[in-house]
Amino acid sequence: MNPGKVIEPYRLDENLRLGPTYDPWQPATHFKFPDDHGSLASATLRCVGVGKCRRNEGGVMCPSFRVTREEEHSTRGRAHLLWEMTQGEVIKDHWQNEAVKESLDLCLACKGCKSDCPTGVDVATYKAEFVAHYYETNRRPLNALAFGNIDLWARAASHVPGLVNLTTQLPFLRDLAKLAAGIAVQRRIPAFAPQTFKQWWEKRWRGTGSPTRSGRAKLDSRRDAGATVLLWADTFNNHFLPDTAKAAVEVLEAAGFEVTVPRAHLCCGRPLYDVGMLDRAKSLLLDIMDELLPEIEAGIPIVVLEPSCAAVFRDELTNLFPKDERARALSQQVFLLSEFLEKHAKAFSLPKLARKALIHGHCHHKAIMKMTAEEAVLRRMGIDFTAPAPGCCGMAGAFGFEKEKYEISKAIGELELLPAVRKAPTDWLIVADGFSCREQIAQETDRQALHLAEVLQMALREATESPEGIPLFEAAPQHYPEDAWVRLREAAIQTSMKRAGLAVAGIAGGAALLWALARNR
Ligand code: SF4
Repeated sequence: MNPGKVIEPYRLDENLRLGPTYDPWQPATHFKFPDDHGSLASATLRCVGVGKCRRNEGGVMCPSFRVTREEEHSTRGRAHLLWEMTQGEVIKDHWQNEAVKESLDLCLACKGCKSDCPTGVDVATYKAEFVAHYYETNRRPLNALAFGNIDLWARAASHVPGLVNLTTQLPFLRDLAKLAAGIAVQRRIPAFAPQTFKQWWEKRWRGTGSPTRSGRAKLDSRRDAGATVLLWADTFNNHFLPDTAKAAVEVLEAAGFEVTVPRAHLCCGRPLYDVGMLDRAKSLLLDIMDELLPEIEAGIPIVVLEPSCAAVFRDELTNLFPKDERARALSQQVFLLSEFLEKHAKAFSLPKLARKALIHGHCHHKAIMKMTAEEAVLRRMGIDFTAPAPGCCGMAGAFGFEKEKYEISKAIGELELLPAVRKAPTDWLIVADGFSCREQIAQETDRQALHLAEVLQMALREATESPEGIPLFEAAPQHYPEDAWVRLREAAIQTSMKRAGLAVAGIAGGAALLWALARNR
């Protein structure tokens, strides 16, 4: 007879989840939660318990639950634990609570819940906020510092990439490097490119008045803002996969745009959110808004190649600085390459490429930007594509590199994406824009994904030759379409390592000789 409802029903103010005495803990937060009355407690109320996050297929949400099947790893479980934290009845130690920390630890911060959950629960943001406070009183693990500050390490490595690659790629040395950084032994540490994209860019324009920051005044007077585009040199494509950014330059210039690149070292701070280093993340965003103020004011579009970086500008930025007019403008000026081509280059006749492709959207791309423009560009290029993996690749930034999380990262990849890539016919393209997704595919299959910029570059070159003029598709059937791109990249890394090895051997030999001479005196 449904007691409490039909029989002897509760009073209107009785047995309520919140009740008239609801007075949650309202801590000061880094994120401002503008859509939740500025309150983390209100944000955690979004979960109404329907449990869509407990489904087993389709959508992005929630990869960790799909593997562990534990409620604490579902979006609902995490939201509920955070709600209990703000209630302060069961969970009394707030930011220091280990159960909340443990539950959030396996969140890949893919933002799947933000788009898939009917009420828009945003666990990735709550996780970043929680972890930031948790580490105010707990020691941050060494690998969090290593992964979170990858832009700083990459910048240092760009002076001696060959030498750094020797320590991360050679047997034994690479094992020591993995041990020191808490990286799973099964993982390969990505190699640094011998020349960063920005070094290439500077060299390209040396002596000619580069359209970088120093040349902006000249640009502004010469062209209208509509013909200029700023290409964001993110840490991953700048330091690890510069060919992607070079391909984007080629495409944008072919479309008639003058490309500029910020000269200053700028980083959106994406890896910092996963380890809760929100003070540094905010300071990097403030630096960006200061440095790019002229572009923001001129309304110059900014093309970002890495979806997770684009998501920082479109999502985190306005949550951290909801009242900053520059943040609002910047978030609207940032485009992925496909979005830019769809919105600002409609007149550009996209090059055709008669190929089939398997595409995989980065979770932040699917959750924040959506795949509409990406798919439209591929369609306009005449590419027949399939997207068999609506979920996460499992890598999610540093998540899949951490030794404690390798197995779950692989298991998530094996749900859909990795088997689909392995099954893809050898002449299909594998297209993925996210650095993490590309790494997961490269490390767990024998294929390598290309960025949309590289696919467009391939089409622009009429699919007949590689960047260095090597015929692409005359290759034997066991060769993949991406081989020409990948072989060149790998060869350049090997050459730089050999040079660094010779230099180290030369220095060591010289030192030994001097020592021997000094001893014999
Ligand atoms: S961000 Fe992704 S992994 Fe984290 S709770 Fe949401 S859907 Fe799950």
